[in-house]
Amino acid sequence: MQRIRLIRDVDTCYSCREQFPRDELVLDHVIPVALDLTRALDERNLAPACLACHRAKTDSEQVLARRGGKVAVARPERVASVEREPSARVYGVRLAPGAGNHLAGGILVRAATPLPPT
Ligand SMILES: [Zn+2]
Repeated sequence: MQRIRLIRDVDTCYSCREQFPRDELVLDHVIPVALDLTRALDERNLAPACLACHRAKTDSEQVLARRGGKVAVARPERVASVEREPSARVYGVRLAPGAGNHLAGGILVRAATPLPPT
Protein backbone atom coordinates (compact mmCIF):
# COMPACT_ATOMS: atom_id res chain seq x y z
CA MET A 1 0.00 0.00 0.00
CA GLN A 2 2.89 2.37 0.77
CA ARG A 3 4.38 1.54 -2.63
CA ILE A 4 1.30 2.81 -4.48
CA ARG A 5 1.17 5.95 -2.36
CA LEU A 6 4.89 6.74 -2.31
CA ILE A 7 5.99 5.57 -5.78
CA ARG A 8 4.52 7.22 -8.88
CA ASP A 9 3.46 5.15 -11.95
CA VAL A 10 6.87 5.98 -13.41
CA ASP A 11 9.41 7.22 -10.89
CA THR A 12 13.11 7.88 -10.46
CA CYS A 13 15.50 5.60 -8.57
CA TYR A 14 17.06 7.84 -5.93
CA SER A 15 20.37 6.02 -6.33
CA CYS A 16 21.06 5.75 -10.08
CA ARG A 17 18.59 8.52 -11.10
CA GLU A 18 17.14 6.33 -13.88
CA GLN A 19 13.37 6.17 -14.43
CA PHE A 20 11.42 2.92 -14.01
CA PRO A 21 7.77 1.80 -13.91
CA ARG A 22 6.46 1.32 -10.36
CA ASP A 23 6.56 -2.48 -10.57
CA GLU A 24 10.34 -2.31 -11.10
CA LEU A 25 10.88 -0.12 -8.02
CA VAL A 26 10.86 -0.86 -4.30
CA LEU A 27 10.81 1.44 -1.29
CA ASP A 28 14.27 1.62 0.18
CA HIS A 29 15.41 3.02 3.53
CA VAL A 30 17.77 5.84 2.50
CA ILE A 31 19.37 5.73 5.96
CA PRO A 32 19.79 1.99 6.61
CA VAL A 33 17.76 0.61 9.48
CA ALA A 34 20.95 -1.03 10.74
CA LEU A 35 22.38 2.48 11.24
CA ASP A 36 19.30 4.11 12.75
CA LEU A 37 16.42 1.91 13.86
CA THR A 38 14.32 4.99 14.70
CA ARG A 39 14.08 5.77 10.95
CA ALA A 40 12.58 2.37 10.09
CA LEU A 41 8.98 3.63 10.07
CA ASP A 42 9.77 7.20 8.98
CA GLU A 43 8.24 7.74 5.51
CA ARG A 44 10.70 10.59 4.91
CA ASN A 45 13.41 7.91 5.00
CA LEU A 46 11.78 5.91 2.19
CA ALA A 47 12.62 6.49 -1.46
CA PRO A 48 12.08 4.52 -4.68
CA ALA A 49 15.02 2.35 -5.71
CA CYS A 50 15.37 0.14 -8.78
CA LEU A 51 15.86 -3.55 -8.11
CA ALA A 52 19.57 -3.50 -9.02
CA CYS A 53 20.36 -0.54 -6.76
CA HIS A 54 18.25 -2.00 -3.95
CA ARG A 55 20.10 -5.34 -4.22
CA ALA A 56 23.52 -3.66 -4.18
CA LYS A 57 22.56 -1.48 -1.20
CA THR A 58 21.07 -4.42 0.70
CA ASP A 59 24.26 -6.42 0.13
CA SER A 60 26.38 -3.55 1.49
CA GLU A 61 24.11 -3.27 4.53
CA GLN A 62 24.88 -6.85 5.54
CA VAL A 63 28.16 -5.48 6.94
CA LEU A 64 26.25 -2.89 8.96
CA ALA A 65 23.90 -5.55 10.30
CA ARG A 66 26.84 -7.63 11.52
CA ARG A 67 28.41 -4.60 13.17
CA GLY A 68 25.13 -3.92 14.90
CA GLY A 69 25.28 -7.31 16.58
CA LYS A 70 22.71 -8.86 14.27
CA VAL A 71 23.27 -12.01 12.27
CA ALA A 72 24.03 -11.25 8.65
CA VAL A 73 23.04 -13.74 5.98
CA ALA A 74 25.91 -14.88 3.79
CA ARG A 75 25.15 -15.99 0.27
CA PRO A 76 27.82 -18.13 -1.36
CA GLU A 77 28.92 -17.05 -4.83
CA ARG A 78 31.17 -18.87 -7.28
CA VAL A 79 34.60 -17.28 -7.87
CA ALA A 80 35.20 -17.12 -11.61
CA SER A 81 38.93 -16.34 -11.43
CA VAL A 82 41.72 -15.22 -9.10
CA GLU A 83 44.66 -13.23 -10.48
CA ARG A 84 47.79 -12.18 -8.65
CA GLU A 85 48.77 -8.57 -9.08
CA PRO A 86 52.47 -8.48 -10.07
CA SER A 87 53.50 -5.54 -7.89
CA ALA A 88 51.72 -6.24 -4.61
CA ARG A 89 50.32 -8.94 -2.37
CA VAL A 90 46.83 -8.12 -3.63
CA TYR A 91 44.56 -10.43 -5.59
CA GLY A 92 41.77 -9.50 -7.96
CA VAL A 93 38.74 -11.77 -7.52
CA ARG A 94 36.22 -11.85 -10.34
CA LEU A 95 32.61 -12.66 -9.39
CA ALA A 96 29.34 -12.86 -11.24
CA PRO A 97 27.82 -9.54 -12.41
CA GLY A 98 25.88 -7.80 -9.66
CA ALA A 99 28.00 -9.30 -6.89
CA GLY A 100 28.57 -7.03 -3.89
CA ASN A 101 30.39 -7.69 -0.62
CA HIS A 102 32.01 -11.04 0.03
CA LEU A 103 33.89 -12.99 2.64
CA ALA A 104 37.05 -14.66 1.33
CA GLY A 105 39.36 -16.46 3.73
CA GLY A 106 37.85 -14.49 6.60
CA ILE A 107 38.47 -11.16 4.89
CA LEU A 108 35.62 -8.97 3.75
CA VAL A 109 36.01 -8.03 0.09
CA ARG A 110 33.99 -5.22 -1.35
CA ALA A 111 33.72 -4.88 -5.11
CA ALA A 112 33.76 -1.09 -5.61
CA THR A 113 33.65 -1.39 -9.39
CA PRO A 114 33.26 -4.47 -11.55
CA LEU A 115 36.40 -5.81 -13.19
CA PRO A 116 36.49 -5.49 -16.99
CA PRO A 117 35.65 -8.65 -18.99
CA THR A 118 38.59 -10.85 -19.98
ZN1 LIG B 1 18.83 2.45 -9.48
